[in-house]
Amino acid sequence: MAGLRVLVASSEVAGFAKTGGLADVAAALPRALAKLGNQVAVVMPYYNAVRRSGMPIENTGIVLPVPMGGRILACRVFRSRLPNSDVPVYLIEHQPYFERDDPTQGRSLYQQSMWGGYKADYPDNAERFVFFSRSVMEMVPHLGFMPDVIHANDWQTGLVPVFLSEAYRGQSGYQRTRSVFTIHNIAYQGMFGRDVMGMTGLPEWLFNLNQLEFHGYLNFLKSGVVFADAVSTVSPTYAREVQTGEFGCGLEGLLAGVHAKLSGIVNGCDYEHWDPTADRHIVAPYTAATVFAKKPLCKAELQRRFHLPEDPKAPVLGMIARLVSQKGIDLVMSAAPGFLDMGCQIVVLGDGDREYHDELQSFRDKHPDRVGIYLGFNEGLAHTIEAGSDLFLMPSRYEPCGLNQMYSLRYGTPPVVRTTGGLADTVVNATEENLADGRATGFSFGDYTPSALYETVKWALTLQRDRPKDFQQVMLTAMAQDWSWDRSAVMYEALYRKVCNLV
Ligand code: ADP
Repeated sequence: MAGLRVLVASSEVAGFAKTGGLADVAAALPRALAKLGNQVAVVMPYYNAVRRSGMPIENTGIVLPVPMGGRILACRVFRSRLPNSDVPVYLIEHQPYFERDDPTQGRSLYQQSMWGGYKADYPDNAERFVFFSRSVMEMVPHLGFMPDVIHANDWQTGLVPVFLSEAYRGQSGYQRTRSVFTIHNIAYQGMFGRDVMGMTGLPEWLFNLNQLEFHGYLNFLKSGVVFADAVSTVSPTYAREVQTGEFGCGLEGLLAGVHAKLSGIVNGCDYEHWDPTADRHIVAPYTAATVFAKKPLCKAELQRRFHLPEDPKAPVLGMIARLVSQKGIDLVMSAAPGFLDMGCQIVVLGDGDREYHDELQSFRDKHPDRVGIYLGFNEGLAHTIEAGSDLFLMPSRYEPCGLNQMYSLRYGTPPVVRTTGGLADTVVNATEENLADGRATGFSFGDYTPSALYETVKWALTLQRDRPKDFQQVMLTAMAQDWSWDRSAVMYEALYRKVCNLV
């Protein structure tokens, strides 16, 4: 079968500029698609972060005239490559919009720090991403190939499917191009005043509640959902959940209405960086054959790093997360005294909301010999926790896909998860039946309550203590799972073929 031509549009790409999981997807998926024989390119804004990334960058010489509300703005196009690949990354340069990020001044890709330390979105985010989306469309004819599919991601590129359908479809070359739109987190929708319609150059009549409007606002994410030929989320369970009031953030009705074009594909896990057999961050790398001998060394190292007693018998519960309400840290805090009563040690690595920082700090101060915390971002420590913990806690309120549970599986550290989103799709609960079948890879619970988390951890520790062979089998089954990008890319390729009628 001939390869497809795919353009991936993303507001961030790992290695160039990153604030979250979207960047990882935008870097890994195109490489995996290219490995399958497809012709792939990526396009993103040229931020300061991109300049600082150290990636080799060349000027393509292309200058695009980009219509922006009655004006024409110029944009230069630069080019780099995804590391270890031939996949080009096109960089849309427009200095006033994109070259303002500076971590030393508290300015990130989308936000700036304000007085009192709180973060606020840039007031012109709508304009910045209208411009980016429009530039993507203007750039396409210069790519050297006409894409079969433009794959847009999250609200920042939500207008790409709209431009394709309503402004560019009639232009030469665009007739056969289809759009796929992926929702990575429906909580962020990009909602702006109606005046932004003027900037887009789209006809005013599209501003109605069946198309671009959401309660009087222009909603970029909704726009993408309405106009894309296919919509995906980052796990099948999340695709179902967003059609419900509990998870849909107001878009549940729309998503239920378009369920026929909605699907879920679990993100891949980067097994090059998260490989216990060759992890430079851990003291004793291990394989499935050596895990039971080496993991205790990793555990001792973890206990040392957090200044906890090096007690091999004390189960270590690890957690790595953005400390925000999504991640279920409130459940962990409520269940934690019970964990200590069971003889556990608890280590938490995270950064986020002030209230959680304060709570964790005071809990640690009360139990300095049982609780270790690191408030900040620390990649090396994340690996140490994945390798050294007995169980990994991820009791999220919602989780579109989640990566940490996949790392835990690979490191033979059974995750304790809530059955939501990607957690439900990637972890097989250690029920008696699943244990008997040798399928179990972790422990899960449904109710969002501290007691459900507590009881699940208790069951996991009972299994570890009283039925060590069963617990070890869970570890080995977890390590053998394949959640690689190669697997996910095959599914995206099938989705692209479907929207192009090439199945
Ligand atoms: P989300 O994208 O919602 O934050 P995921 O589990 O999908 O959650 O991915 C989080 C990623 O960020 C993982 O790679 C995790 O190891 C990493 N991470 C989160 N917080 C920290 C931290 N404080 N230090 C190091 N890595 C972190």
